[in-house]
Amino acid sequence: MADLYDFSATDGSDKDLLGGKGAGLARMTSLGLPVPPGFTITTEVCRATMASGDIPADLWPEVDAAVARLEEQTGRTFGSGPVPILLSVRSGAKFSMPGMMDTVLNLGINEGIVKTLIEWSGDPHFGWDANRRFLQMYGDVVLGIEATLFQDVLTEMRATRGVDDDSELTSDDLEETTRRFRAIIERERPGQLPDDPMQQLRGAITAVFKSWNTKRAIAYRRIHGISDDLGTAANVQMMVFGDLGDDSGTGVCFTRDPATGSKTLYGDYLPRAQGEDVVAGRRNTLTLDELAGLHPECHRQLIEIMDGLETHYRDMCDIEFTIEKDVLYILQTRAGKRTAAAAVRLAVAMVHEGLIDEKTAVTRVAPAALEQLHRPRIADHVDIGSAVASGVAASPGAATGKVVFTSDSAVARAREGEKVILVRPETTPDDIHGMAAAIGILTSQGGKTSHAAVVARGMGKPAITGAAAILVDVDAGVARAKNDDLREGDVITIDGTSGLVFLGEVDVVEPESIPELQELLTWADQIRKLEVRANADTAEDAAFARARGAAGIGLARTEHMFLGERLAIVQSLILSSDPEQRQKALNDLEQQQIGDFESLLEAMDGLPVVIRLLDPPLHEFLPSRLELEHEMLGRVRAGRPIDDLQAMSDQVARWEEDNPMLGLRGVRLGLMVKDLYRMQARAATTALTRRIQAGAAPHLEIMIPLVAVAEELIQMRDVIEEEIARATEGSGVELDIDIGTMIELPRAALTAGEIARVADFFSFGTNDLTQMTYGLSRDDAEGLFLRDYLEQGILSSDPFQSIDRDGVGRLIRVATKEGREANPDLIVGLCGEHGGDPESIAFVHDLGLDYVSCSPPRIEGARLAAAQAALGDMESAQRVD
Ligand code: PEP
Ligand code: MG
Repeated sequence: MADLYDFSATDGSDKDLLGGKGAGLARMTSLGLPVPPGFTITTEVCRATMASGDIPADLWPEVDAAVARLEEQTGRTFGSGPVPILLSVRSGAKFSMPGMMDTVLNLGINEGIVKTLIEWSGDPHFGWDANRRFLQMYGDVVLGIEATLFQDVLTEMRATRGVDDDSELTSDDLEETTRRFRAIIERERPGQLPDDPMQQLRGAITAVFKSWNTKRAIAYRRIHGISDDLGTAANVQMMVFGDLGDDSGTGVCFTRDPATGSKTLYGDYLPRAQGEDVVAGRRNTLTLDELAGLHPECHRQLIEIMDGLETHYRDMCDIEFTIEKDVLYILQTRAGKRTAAAAVRLAVAMVHEGLIDEKTAVTRVAPAALEQLHRPRIADHVDIGSAVASGVAASPGAATGKVVFTSDSAVARAREGEKVILVRPETTPDDIHGMAAAIGILTSQGGKTSHAAVVARGMGKPAITGAAAILVDVDAGVARAKNDDLREGDVITIDGTSGLVFLGEVDVVEPESIPELQELLTWADQIRKLEVRANADTAEDAAFARARGAAGIGLARTEHMFLGERLAIVQSLILSSDPEQRQKALNDLEQQQIGDFESLLEAMDGLPVVIRLLDPPLHEFLPSRLELEHEMLGRVRAGRPIDDLQAMSDQVARWEEDNPMLGLRGVRLGLMVKDLYRMQARAATTALTRRIQAGAAPHLEIMIPLVAVAEELIQMRDVIEEEIARATEGSGVELDIDIGTMIELPRAALTAGEIARVADFFSFGTNDLTQMTYGLSRDDAEGLFLRDYLEQGILSSDPFQSIDRDGVGRLIRVATKEGREANPDLIVGLCGEHGGDPESIAFVHDLGLDYVSCSPPRIEGARLAAAQAALGDMESAQRVD
């Protein structure tokens, strides 16, 4: 296989090999679009480089030959006049990783060629600017020189010349800048700046491949679940110049509005600029309509191309273009990043327009993004006049949090559990960790296509860009907004839907769901095999879950019903040594539980409701001994008696365990303190009977937690069946209650065949199953060291978020298979947090589970993920995030 392909040599269908950008360039070339010529070095070369540590030696002759073809095709020359070619080298992986990897532009320039370039263009400003851009990028990206050294020179230059933007510097200024850049490189990396254009090209290609493994690229891949093994391609392309005088410029456009999904063309154009200037968002851009005024013919051609590309790709496209001396070039296209609302609207609209079918539409929306649709927004009654600034509504949703000015501070404060909003002049790829930690992003510069906007949309976080009224001074730790100074820790509210910034906290409301979503989910429901239930413990949650499409309750955690004012009753039940008092507490709780269960059954009438008997260790309901001792001390000081507290403290000591999560909890507690489970079984049965008598159609299932050996379930089942029989005695009502177990211990999974003989259903409690399989505390590990493990690549994903397929997943596979072999009627579900995770849903779909159960806000996403799993297509949804 060749190491590289000219853009004109393939039809661009092999994205694995060419990467997204390379595939797009080849495809557009084959469609006859005005793409500057070039070639793509394959991802295979990147993988080979990663494996051996070096670029394969046979690549360079191929590159030389490809450059020769380029010269022949264009009639220009790389490294000499009369018309010199400059080249760009850009990364481009299969999945877009905006700004995460490196790019080097204007390659092929040296002191001699600048002169030729100036002769050719007749524009010294352009020639020197091309040279300084090359030195700056090559110095930073290829030679690894601190970027600020170059930026400082430009900042000083702008200050002494009294201008705001680099484009306003004169050609003499730029020549001077170039000289100083050379001096920096010579000082920092003596003798390492090649004059030979071919050497420059080799250096840039090597650097671009290496940038696959920079810290920020790795961090991005972790966040977006992109495999480290894919590698990037490198695209070498002839430069066209958006900064070649006033009849040139560069821009980015979308074939539909990426924020709303509406069918309106959207774009930013910057005259006399290179592409990096648009993305950096330092200067304010023009609209497409304004572009039409400047370059009517290019505008007409661009609109036609946008239309053609959308029809070709059958998706909303994001297109980068450059106008060089009134001639239009297309530099890149890809599926445009979009908000969740836009993704849903676009998918449904394109089905109605006949562009795509329903199955394709279902794959076009990332399930996790659906939660975004239900994000809070600023309440209508909030006086928008009280906003202190407004900017570009870059990514929707409202967020209230504390101001931080650096990404490191965002991470540090988020670790302390604080909600922070990252406030910056602009963001760069180095801010990825801060953006991940923040709940919202606010920048004073940039537009809808700036880094902050694109990344925030991808992460599904509210963002405002270009809030020019806010002057952010990171070094001084202050942002000046109208008459107020914002300092780190001050609370602000941002509304990424309107672009408004408010001081302090303002009222926010939940948004209504967009009607197109229901249509999309109906299609998903027709495709999916997995049922989606909810983890819900209150009638309110149950009703909410049902409205979101839950097919029942897969897990009602009854311990959540033992809190609040009921805690005193529970404590008296646990602590009392007086049998009468104990019985009274049990009776009280039973009455309360009957009410709880009736309301759940009512909210889910006609659908199954799985009630799980008490799970946690009893000490969770008791005061801590430290607290009691504290209270006793106070009383002693006040000369008051402490006997009752002392008695309580003794009892608390009785239930204390060193490892409570491995202790007397779940079915163990049920067997040791039998009247508790008996009470719950009776209450559930009574609630069921009452609902039937009321003419309803309730479906009750009782679930036993933390079973390790079949005998536990055998004994517990007897107890529960006895209570069911007792509760229905003489009522004449026939009850059909399934009794099943959670599988949350490795032993249970490994002996599932035995357990299944006495279970009507299994539900994998993957929170505990992960904890117990890894021997990793689900409560502590994520805060303590799991993050480090992920950063260091010891783990490739968080096993509490996505099922560890090799370990925990293997247990699930074995248990499902052996459970079903022993009991063909066994119903198998999953109710850990993984039930709402698209990757885990795909995994259990493949295993043939019957249902997943997840928290109510994740239900719609789970329905969609289940459909994508059934279509075997997670990939395209991931792409369109
Ligand atoms: C589980 O362990 O996965 C589970 C659902 O139970 P809980 O989270 O209540 O322990
Ligand atoms: Mg559990």
